[in-house]
Amino acid sequence: MNATPTGTAVTSPTRKVGLVTGGGSGIGRATAIEFARTGAAVAVLDIDEDAAAETTEMITKEGGEALSGRVDIGDEDSVRAAIQHTVAAYGGLDYAVNNAGLSSHFRQLDEMTAAEFEQVVHVNLTGTFLCMKYELPLLTGGGAIVNVASNGGVSVIPHAPAYVAAKHGVVGLSKAAAVDYAPAGIRVNALCPGPTRTPGFEKIAAGTPMIETLEAGTPLGRLALPQEAAAAAVWLCSDAASFITGVALSVDGGRLA
Ligand code: NAD
Repeated sequence: MNATPTGTAVTSPTRKVGLVTGGGSGIGRATAIEFARTGAAVAVLDIDEDAAAETTEMITKEGGEALSGRVDIGDEDSVRAAIQHTVAAYGGLDYAVNNAGLSSHFRQLDEMTAAEFEQVVHVNLTGTFLCMKYELPLLTGGGAIVNVASNGGVSVIPHAPAYVAAKHGVVGLSKAAAVDYAPAGIRVNALCPGPTRTPGFEKIAAGTPMIETLEAGTPLGRLALPQEAAAAAVWLCSDAASFITGVALSVDGGRLA
């Protein structure tokens, strides 16, 4: 068991509660901050506890409300405990952005071991499944889930067979849940960012011509900022998107067009 959310919670019956996995960096951090700006209380969960706590500090400095905790989305006990702790602290759950993911092992399929393949699929796909499994029963007042997939969830990123397979799975899982839980008033969507300048992405791109190449292939002529993906995630959760469920929304500057 490795979920140790920290922070002070003040419950209020009207305030919305959001949860973000992978909230310690990049798109997850930007989403947590954006959620808090809408007035929601936010649980920032990450395998890197210190990074999650940093995000919480950024939110509380702006006057928002947040708690942080450690979760490994690939570990069922950890997911169950972190989500239970969030609900114990805030009294419910309205939105979840399942954003944590693993981008690694970029190589041709026949050069990949089965263990590498399974690791990428386990964290990205099974991890998203585990989060949804414990979030869905808590969304008793309706609510919304956004699963962060990728352009690789609806098209192909070369030399990333496990990631592409896993992210296609995340899109499929999101659509399946959207249909099954629509009668309960719960909306489920997938967000499909194109290349986005997060710390995780910058690490992969460092020392390569990747950024220039990707910019050249993006109609808007640049890569996304984490805040641009976050704005779409928070919008998909909001009442402004009340009739949108089961979609895979690209935030990619026109790349897939
Ligand atoms: P990032 O590396 O900047 O941040 C990812 C965060 O997730 C980190 O804080 C990390 O500690 C956390 N994390 C990793 N494994 C975890 C686990 N098992 N349990 C809990 N937390 C874990 O990444 P990012 O670029 O912001 O990516 C966020 C999501 O967006 C991922 O699902 C990624 O696949 C997807 N995405 C990113 C891009 C991009 O170009 N940045 C494009 C498409 C999709």
